[in-house]
This record gives sequence, structure tokens and C-alpha cells, in this order.
Amino acid sequence: MLVPKASVILAAAGAGRRFYEKENPSRPEADEERVTKAFVPLAGRPVLAHTLERFAQVRAVAEVIVAVPADRVAWAGRTFGDALSSGAALRFVAGGEDRTASVAQALRASDATTELVAIHDAVRPLIRPSVIGEAFRVAMEHGAAVVGRPVDQTIKYVLDGCRAAGTVPRHGLWMAQTPQVFRREIIVRAYERREELVGGVTDDAQLVEAIGQTVMMVCGDAANLKITTPEDLRLCEALLAAGWPFGEK
Ligand code: C5P
Repeated sequence: MLVPKASVILAAAGAGRRFYEKENPSRPEADEERVTKAFVPLAGRPVLAHTLERFAQVRAVAEVIVAVPADRVAWAGRTFGDALSSGAALRFVAGGEDRTASVAQALRASDATTELVAIHDAVRPLIRPSVIGEAFRVAMEHGAAVVGRPVDQTIKYVLDGCRAAGTVPRHGLWMAQTPQVFRREIIVRAYERREELVGGVTDDAQLVEAIGQTVMMVCGDAANLKITTPEDLRLCEALLAAGWPFGEK
């Protein structure tokens, strides 16, 4: 089978305020401090090093572009080098004001000849390589594939702080994770129209849905955690210590 070529965009330019505040609740100046979660150590290496290693295990990956805070571009290049263990190219670009601005910058810097573009939160270091591969396969077939999970908990709609105002039927609800993988022309078109399309964009597939493109879901793992708080970091550490990804190298 012909393997498509993919560009991978890792969003790593967030300020990580929620992470910092939880770790330092007594520090009023915490709001002003920044910690780039992708650079925080996880089992002795930066979170980003784990994420890069997962993508290096996927044959279709031709390049990885990481959006980092503007003042960390040169440092990241020196720290992580310019090639992955697979030989795929690795580049760092300055991110933007919000996640979509960071992804847009990386998209502009990507190789226009690759067939697929995969967008992933750098702070999801436990993505299983076989799930990435399955998302690539589905995106080649349908144009757009989002890794996620069916909702398995009861969901409450909450008003006025903590008052449960209703229970949302969970049938048919999925939680979207990343990677989200698209045929290049689709994600480029969606990003070109991102300002006119929707406000409050929280994932890339939302932009693709807004241009009328079908998006398919790919079932991933509950362990594909997004490191938001220090607890998430410790959960990732515990999973790695237990041998994650189970049943896969
Ligand atoms: O803020 P949130 O946890 O949703 O961020 C998800 C991912 O998007 C993180 O990996 C973060 O670094 C990235 N991000 C970014 N540029 C921003 C804001 C967030 O690359 N301006």
C-alpha cells in the first residue's frame, strides 16, 4: 500500500496558567507567570520529547512543526535538534495569541506537498502510535478524522456556579481529543476562512465542519490525557511507569 506523507503540527505555545496556578495557589502573581507545559519534565524528559517520539514511530510522518512561544523558538531548536529518530524533519515556529493562531503559523510553515496534516496538542504525550496511524488511514479515506472517545459519564448542565440545571443525554456524545487529521487542501481551506466562520474555536475539526466537510471520529484511549493540571502530569507518569502504551512498543 502507498503510504501518504503527513505534516504534523504540534501546538505547544500555550501559557499554561491553569497548570501554574494549581501548583502555586498561594502566589498572587501566578497569573503573570508562564510555564510552557510541553517543556515540563515527565519521567525525566520534557513532555514534548515524549510526544515527538510517538510521532517518530509513524512511518507516514515526513515532518513535524512545533509552535512554541516566540521567545523559546531558538532555545527549542537547540534543545530538541532538527531531526527525529525516524529522520523526519523537525522545525519550531513562533505561536500566536490563541491556539488557532499558533496552528495557522505552523500550517503556513509546513511543506505544501504533503497529503495529510495532523494537528496535535503537544501536551498529549501518551498518544498511541497505532491510533495515529488509524487516524491517518481514515483521513485519507474521508478527508477528516478526529481521535476521541464516547462520553461514558453522566453530564450535568450547571448554572450559577454549582447548581445542576439538567442532565444532558450522553447518547451520541463524544469527547474530542487530538490528533485531528485532514487532507491538506481541506484544512488549508478551513483555516483561510477561520475569521469569518465561528467564534470560540476550541478544535480544528470545528473549522472543517463549518465549511461543510464530513468529519469522522476514530476511537482512541482514555490515557491520551491532555496535561492541564499537575494531577494530569502525575497520571501520565504513573501510566508510563506501568508500561504504557500497553501491548505496543
Ligand atoms: O489551553 P489548552 O490546554 O486548550 O491548549 C491546548 C494546546 O494548545 C496546548 O498544547 C497549548 O500549548 C497549545 N496552545 C498554543 N498556542 C496558544 C494557546 C495554546 O499552541 N496560543
